[in-house]
Amino acid sequence: MDYTQLTIKSKLPDIKTTIFTTVGNLAREHNAIDLSQGFPNFEADRELLSLVTKAMHEGHNQYAPMPGYYGLREVISEKIESLHNHHYNPESEITITVGATQAIFTAITAFIGLGDEVIVIKPAYDCYEPAIILNGGNPVLIQLDTPDYKVDWEVFKTKITPKTKMVIINTPHNPSGTILSKKDMEKLQDILKPTNIILLSDEVYEHIIFDSQTHHSASQFKDLAERSFVCASFGKTFHVTGWKMGYCAAPAALMAEFRKVHQFAVFCADHPVQRALASYLKNASHYLDLNNFYQKKRDLFLQGIKSSKFTFKPSQGTYFQLLDYTALSNEDDEIIGKRLITEHKIASIPISSFNLNNRNDYKLRFCFAKKQETLEKAIEILCRL
Ligand code: PMP
Repeated sequence: MDYTQLTIKSKLPDIKTTIFTTVGNLAREHNAIDLSQGFPNFEADRELLSLVTKAMHEGHNQYAPMPGYYGLREVISEKIESLHNHHYNPESEITITVGATQAIFTAITAFIGLGDEVIVIKPAYDCYEPAIILNGGNPVLIQLDTPDYKVDWEVFKTKITPKTKMVIINTPHNPSGTILSKKDMEKLQDILKPTNIILLSDEVYEHIIFDSQTHHSASQFKDLAERSFVCASFGKTFHVTGWKMGYCAAPAALMAEFRKVHQFAVFCADHPVQRALASYLKNASHYLDLNNFYQKKRDLFLQGIKSSKFTFKPSQGTYFQLLDYTALSNEDDEIIGKRLITEHKIASIPISSFNLNNRNDYKLRFCFAKKQETLEKAIEILCRL
């Protein structure tokens, strides 16, 4: 067949390869210190790795049940109840997914159809809008202002129309490192109360939050929990992003619709890893110690660059730190970001790629989920600029 004859009508004509792939490739090409994409460059706990090997040797190598291994759903339910005081029935209200990405894609696909509106707060992680568009929906974008990136709930209210079917929030927030406070969540709860709108709450950084602040999950708020998909990622929490393992929790009626899509999209997630996580999660220190672990890395990074020309507001959560470069240059962030890789051998992500109409905030996002020696090398370069 002559493939040149094929006419291709793209469903996503405006979407390019993600910035993470483009910057990551450039960083490798130039042998740069890579603080761009959000993943650790240190190993996961050996205990967790051994548990996966054990599960494989014990023969858990065939399909897991469609919603996930029950033992894992059970510990997740107990974990959420102890942290957020909300009970999810492991049988009908928790599903194990191929990373949070699949949970997000599946929830959107299960509920969004032609002409439905979904409110997305920008800057936003890049997987939300393509999923909405692929399903025929319309993303309704709200741009937050630099440097605080706070939601103005009065502006938010004005974006709700009879077509609004879903709202997506992300706390702690990638890329800004801000968190939604209890007051923010209560405000959102009040606004959504008289509506039929579903909330998709992306909480993949739930265990990475600093300075003794607390994470306010949508599951903590009764009226929000009743309309929410809460999405989480084991990859982020246990330093195993390559395992692509996550879960989502929602009331039974919402979850039933979610599973109709899930069973035909992937059927189930990796089985031996689910067995391992079920054992590993029983020890709460494995996730409760994470705040402290990453706070040390954030503080090392921020202390190190104090004398540099970059300015910043310390990240409140996630393993990302925004650095403002206005004292260094007035270039667009994509241009300076590229130059930092090719001329100075350090990679970061330009914030414009997360913003509405690629607005330039003169900020770059650096991931500090890295070994001490990597952070020290990065500090040295940043202080030289
Ligand atoms: N949401 C946000 C805000 C993220 O930063 C990421 C990962 N970078 C994801 C979702 C995806 O998580 P996972 O790797 O578990 O699919």
